[in-house]
This record gives sequence, structure tokens and C-alpha cells, in this order.
Amino acid sequence: MSSNDRTLDLISRIAFASDGLVSGLALAYLAVETWRKYHFTSSALRRVRRAQPVQISDLRSILASSDSDDEHKSVSDSSLPNLVVVRGLVKPRSAVDGNWMNSKSGVVPSINSDEPAVVLQKSQTYMYNLWTSFLGRRTGLQSLIFGRFLKEQKCISFRMVPFVLAENSHSDYAVICLEGSKHALPLITSYQHLQSIPSSPYTILQAFLGQPYPVGLLNEEKILPIGKEVTAVGACYLKDGIPQIESCKDIPYFLSDMTKDQMEADLASETTILFWGGIFLGSVSLGILGYAINRNWRKWYDWWQQRRHRQSRNAAAAVAAATALAEDQADEMEEIPDGQLCVVCLTRRRRSAFVPCGHRVCCHRCALSVERDLSPKCPICRQTIRSSVIVFES
Ligand SMILES: [Zn+2]
Ligand SMILES: [Zn+2]
Repeated sequence: MSSNDRTLDLISRIAFASDGLVSGLALAYLAVETWRKYHFTSSALRRVRRAQPVQISDLRSILASSDSDDEHKSVSDSSLPNLVVVRGLVKPRSAVDGNWMNSKSGVVPSINSDEPAVVLQKSQTYMYNLWTSFLGRRTGLQSLIFGRFLKEQKCISFRMVPFVLAENSHSDYAVICLEGSKHALPLITSYQHLQSIPSSPYTILQAFLGQPYPVGLLNEEKILPIGKEVTAVGACYLKDGIPQIESCKDIPYFLSDMTKDQMEADLASETTILFWGGIFLGSVSLGILGYAINRNWRKWYDWWQQRRHRQSRNAAAAVAAATALAEDQADEMEEIPDGQLCVVCLTRRRRSAFVPCGHRVCCHRCALSVERDLSPKCPICRQTIRSSVIVFES
């Protein structure tokens, strides 16, 4: 059994533990997460819908007027940043702001592409291959989960220069502030090279054991080229009289190839998927949890009932044993006819019958000592006995 088989076996055991209670809880967690994402996406959709698409040339005047308005507005209104949606061309800041630095340092040099860019991201992706091992067979489920290739991506360098969004016809621009943004950038791949990794004795051993091993290394270079038309969605404010656009944490986009309408359509379809996904996951998890809780409750109830039964039975047996012992002691005082005497001690009355042979030939005390023998046998018929019961005559 390979390690993957063992992992799958463990996962399925955990999933079905306690009549599906664990998988029910996991699904409930997924449902809550889906609902959380749904709320995030639907509020983002509402905000993007409400945001007015503006021209970059109008930003300054809009911000100036809203700033003066803010003084009269309540605090709660002004706490929400101005969300703007602008579309413009990517330009290095040095191109529009001559005195910032000399224009040469305004672009990121790319070794593999002639296109001037403002963002350059180099990454390496290790491609792993999962061969069907000679020892263990890969199951259908595993290939479904792990796929043919496993990928491990590593960003090895990220360089950028300050850049702006500008309109072709006007000299107005808005500075893009990438600081603190975790949003994906609309980068385009400028260079790709797949390098194969030669196999070593160690990789052959890994293949034999069914372990994934790297077969290729994909070197990629992605750039944000100058002159690319993108849409920026974010908070806008004036800094030294220049509009700055910053990413908003509660909006899933910042810079994007999509137009505002495309973003709205994208968010709307995602909201619908998340809504129905949340309902589906919620009802399935409720069903499984209900079943599991019901089953576990019944199990616990049965166990509790059995325990109570056992306790009352034990209490009755203890009372009977005490009575028999007391009677045994009383027997020592009185005269008992020969036929009624215990065959072991010959002093007390026969009270205990052995199970399963049914012979009543011993007093309670002797029956207990016979029972405690290593291989308990009836003193009359030599049959192996399991226990003894006190017989009362009344
Ligand atoms: Zn006896
Ligand atoms: Zn017997």
C-alpha cells in the first residue's frame, strides 16, 4: 500500500467516523465558508454596481467636490472610501511626471522580451509526475484528486516601478498604489521555457515507490506592459493634488482586463453559484448532521439503558448473595439432614446450582470457590461450568 493509499484510507475512515458526524461537521464548515464568501461577493457586487464609471480627467474635480462635501456629511458616510472605476492605459510614472527621476529608470528591464513593462514577475513551476507505481496500483479516485501532474509554483522575483493610469488624449493621470494589495494583476506571459529535469537513481527509486518526482521546470516571465488598457477599481483620494487609487480589501478586483460591465457579470454569476452552493452544502450538511446526531443519541441511550439494567441486576445479585451467605452461616448452627449437605464442606446446606449442568450440590460459599478454579468443573459430573445460581426454596 503506497502512502497515498494509506492517506485515502485514513481520510475515508475519519469521514465516516461516528456515523458521518465528522463529515457532517466538515460540510457544515464548508457551507459556512461558502455563505461567508457569498456575503463578501454580493456586497462587492453592490458596491461595484453603485460605483460611477468616471473618466480619469474628471477624477480631480469629483474628488475636490466630494472633499468639500465631506465636511458637511456625517462620519459614517465619509468612513466608506470613494470607490471609483476608471479605465486607462498603463504608463510609467516617469513618463508623465518628468521631474520625478530620469526616464530611463522608469521601466523594468526584461531580458527575454523587448516590450517595456512596469511590472515584471519571474516564477518557476516544478512539474511533478505521478507514475503508476510498480508496487501499488493508483486508484481512480487518486488520479482524480492528484491529477496527472502536480505543480509547485514559486515566485522567484517581483519587480515594479511606480506607474499610473492615463488617458490617451489628456495629460491627466491617476497614480496606482499597489502597496498592501494582494489582488492578482492582469499580467501577460512574455516568456515561457520548459526545461526537463534528467532522472537520477534517486528519482527512479521514487518512481518505483510510487512517489511523485519532478520531471520538468517551467520558467515563466510575466509583465504588465506599458500601453495596456486596464480597469482599476479602488478607493480614490487626492495626495498632493494628484489622484491616487488604492486597492479595496472588500472588492475582489483591483487592476483588471475586464470592463465594469464584465466585472458586474462575473460577480453576479459568482454570487449565484455561491448562493446555490451555500444552500446545497447547508442542506446536505444539516441532513448528515441530523442523521449522525440521531444515531449517536440512540447509541448513547441504549448504552445508558443497558448500564442501568446491569446495575440493577448486579444489585439484586448482591442482595441474593448476602442472603445466601447469611443463611450459610445460620446453617452452621443447625442440624441438616445428610442428603441436603454440601458435597464439598459437608457442613452447610446445598443452595447453589451450577450452570449449565444444573447440579445443586454445593453451598453458596463452596460454589463460589469452585467457580474461581482455573478450570471450574462440577464436583458431581465433572462438566465445565460457567457460573452458579442461588436457588431459593420458599
Ligand atoms: Zn460447602
Ligand atoms: Zn454437574
